[in-house]
Amino acid sequence: MKPPRIDKGISLSIFIDLDGTLWEDFGPGHILDYHAQKEALNKLVEISLHFKKTPKLFILTNQTAAARKIYFYPLFWFKVTLFLSSLKLKKIIAGFYVCYHHPNAEFTLLRKNCSCRKPLPGGIYKIITKYNLESSSKWVIGDRITDILAGELAGIERKFLIFRKESLDMNQAPKDFGDFKNYSCTFLPINCWDEILEYIDD
Ligand SMILES: [Mg+2]
Ligand SMILES: [Zn+2]
Repeated sequence: MKPPRIDKGISLSIFIDLDGTLWEDFGPGHILDYHAQKEALNKLVEISLHFKKTPKLFILTNQTAAARKIYFYPLFWFKVTLFLSSLKLKKIIAGFYVCYHHPNAEFTLLRKNCSCRKPLPGGIYKIITKYNLESSSKWVIGDRITDILAGELAGIERKFLIFRKESLDMNQAPKDFGDFKNYSCTFLPINCWDEILEYIDD
């Protein structure tokens, strides 16, 4: 079933995950890989170009490499911020929010049940407030059930789940989030960005 088309007058904001969505998920810290960064840039441009009215793209991501002591936190934070700020400076994205926390972090300063960590919707709320997106149409694109759950909890209209085998791993979702089948989302086979773009009113 085709979703309702986006009204031409309404601006669209899209919350996009990174690992597993804009590049293949090779585990924590891959955000610093040059090829991953280049792939992300290309995909973001590709998404924007398919819209008549350029949507606002926001990166929303959990990054646990410092929590897992793979990288030293200040250095990791700096490099991640540099990468995402450069996308913003080039006007490829409108903004970003990164949660560096993990409930079982080895690096104790980052050990926290953070409300901004997906599947919780805190990061989405922060972006909505900061950029005044209340009246804008909103989509979420991610590769895990946690991305969809965060969108669901924040009341996001359309949610796209890029299909990989780990996409449906309910173990990632806290038990009290209920049955995955209750959440409405559109499944996209991996790398089928054209299918997302079909939903766009031209
Ligand atoms: Mg992901
Ligand atoms: Zn956090």
